[in-house]
Amino acid sequence: MEGALTARDRVGIQDFVLLDTHTSETAFLGNLKKRFSEDLIYTYIGTLLVSVNPYKELDIYSKKQMDIYMGVNFFELPPHIYALADNAYHTMMAEANNHFILISGESGAGKTEASKKILQYYAVSCPSTTLLDSVRDRMLVSNPVLEAFGNAKTLKNDNSSRFGKYMDIQFDIQGDAVGGHILSYLLEKSRVVHQNHGERNFHIFYQLVEGGEEDLLHQLGLESNCQHYSYLVQDECANVTSINDKNDWKTVRNALSVIDFDESDIQHLFGIIASVLHLGNVQFEADSKGYATLNKNTELRWVSTLLGINVQVLQEGLTYRKIEAKTDEVLSPFTVDHAIYARNALAKAIYGRTFTWLVNKINDSMENKEPSRKTVIGLLDIYGFEVFYVNSFEQFCINYCNEKLQQLFIQLTLKSEQEEYEAEGIGWEPVQFFNNKIICDLVEEKHRGIISVLDEECLRPGEATDFTFLEKLEEKMGSHPHFITHKLSDKKIRKTLDRGDFRLLHYAGEVTYGVVGFIDKNNDMLYRNIKYVSLLLWSIIHVYLTDKLLGDSTTDPRPSSLLGLTDILMSKEPWYVRCLKSNESKQPGRFDDVLVRHQVKYLGLMEHLRVRRAGFAYRRRYELFLQRYKPLCPATWPHWRGVAAEGVEVLVQHLGYLPDEYKMGRTKIFIRHPRTLFATEDAFEV
Ligand code: ATP
Ligand code: MG
Repeated sequence: MEGALTARDRVGIQDFVLLDTHTSETAFLGNLKKRFSEDLIYTYIGTLLVSVNPYKELDIYSKKQMDIYMGVNFFELPPHIYALADNAYHTMMAEANNHFILISGESGAGKTEASKKILQYYAVSCPSTTLLDSVRDRMLVSNPVLEAFGNAKTLKNDNSSRFGKYMDIQFDIQGDAVGGHILSYLLEKSRVVHQNHGERNFHIFYQLVEGGEEDLLHQLGLESNCQHYSYLVQDECANVTSINDKNDWKTVRNALSVIDFDESDIQHLFGIIASVLHLGNVQFEADSKGYATLNKNTELRWVSTLLGINVQVLQEGLTYRKIEAKTDEVLSPFTVDHAIYARNALAKAIYGRTFTWLVNKINDSMENKEPSRKTVIGLLDIYGFEVFYVNSFEQFCINYCNEKLQQLFIQLTLKSEQEEYEAEGIGWEPVQFFNNKIICDLVEEKHRGIISVLDEECLRPGEATDFTFLEKLEEKMGSHPHFITHKLSDKKIRKTLDRGDFRLLHYAGEVTYGVVGFIDKNNDMLYRNIKYVSLLLWSIIHVYLTDKLLGDSTTDPRPSSLLGLTDILMSKEPWYVRCLKSNESKQPGRFDDVLVRHQVKYLGLMEHLRVRRAGFAYRRRYELFLQRYKPLCPATWPHWRGVAAEGVEVLVQHLGYLPDEYKMGRTKIFIRHPRTLFATEDAFEV
């Protein structure tokens, strides 16, 4: 066979668990790269899906492809996001329980694209009744709308999500997608008034200005030129080749009508968006005493008209502070800087509320009003780990969320997996992995974590500054191995750390944060959201764990539950999609080894693989296993009168399981590879 290239040589291995040489990082990367060069962007680690961003359109998302993946066993076809979506769906149907799909990876790695593909798969492929088609359409068009208002061009990604999104897709008992619900969090409102070099504001502003119909722009007092608006041209980055604002405007307009926005809603919505643009152009001058005055108030009049606020009230609000003194209210004039601050705060608040309102409207339109029993598949697409040249409070929040996501992953896979082997007495060589709990604690621990310290400082208005906050951090975190500042660091590091910086050694790498703005931004609503995110994440874990406990309670031998659907092959699991960025320059087909290696490392993929390889893909309580498969063996059919574990042993002997393929635990049988189980299932059908 010299010179001949086998299919396997060419396309690599499609499940890393089967990579037979060794589990080295080099072999892992080699396999990813080989597949990537053949446009095979998906690879499994067991049931976890690794996806490498190809930065080009691939012909693998057609309806025909969807049909191919419908209802087919996971490992029978090449890896695909549809296979994962389909598997989650069928497991949900079979076991009548809730699932969730966690999509993670750094900015630009392809999380949002992956979540869209999954949603499309459900919307297009699940059984449908015409009555429900409108709900599906709404679910699908909710994406372009939310992206218009919540995504922006950043240095990392031309369509970067600047909010986190958790979406429940609800299915009825027949498996129809009947409704949806979105939770949004951590919208990066500061972007409305400020963008870093080379970045843009939220897409919607450019879409409106570039694409808005003449009449509409006229009514809103807008000019059809981005250059005119200071919130849009701070960085002269209005035009991006990959973005067509005019076309996107049309898509968004159409989408809004699908989700029940009538003309007055639309007027209202764009009135508010326009008011933000006008607000950005409101300029102040210093009077002889240095206090802020408005040099002309045309822009302010527009804001007043569009928002329906009296212009006098608005003007006062932007240039004076109200101080309550005993019985009186005293107006204290602002300096120009203060006035600009107030103006920007108003713009951010308006935008933030509009976004929340929009999400609520979308939710109303996707709501399923039937009281029937439903199960859900949740999709979590949070924006990825970020390291910029200058990192501020926003990056701190984002990176903390990613830290929590990693913790969730560890809890649900690496840790719980190994604990189960131990509990079941399965011989097992523990796999070492880095547990990032220490970093989560550093950030969130009550009274001691960074957030607590920041909160305390925020309770001392007038006295606390960003720098007193940093001092407190140094006092409290001084010796923490994941926390470094200028003062604490050794000589080598000191060179690269400024006085106003602190550095965290995140699981995904080192990030240096500048403290300037932390106090102010923490006082903002943004902060309340961050607590909410962790609550959300932990409530997901809770639901999962509760389900698992309930699932296990089916062991008490109630015939109805044993004969029910819940005891079909696969045990319930959360589902993971790990997205990798192939290169930093968004180039099609380029695979940057160093960049990918780094992500493979911090996403814990090697540890996951080791746990998977050494471990067992499936496990079933003896009672359930026996109940399901006893017809396949004369000795167990129709009744096995002894202990369930012994019945299972007899059964698998009869089926010809090799000793290496399974292990008998205290309460469950563990099966190394899903293929074994699939073969058993097939025997069932013959
Ligand atoms: P962020 O955290 O910044 O929101 P993200 O992980 O959501 O990033 P995406 O917006 O999904 O990243 O992807 C970035 C870009 O990469 C997309 O706009 C698209 O051009 C390309 N891309 C991602 N996934 C795919 C894919 N499966 N096929 C083709 N192109 C893709
Ligand atoms: Mg995204």
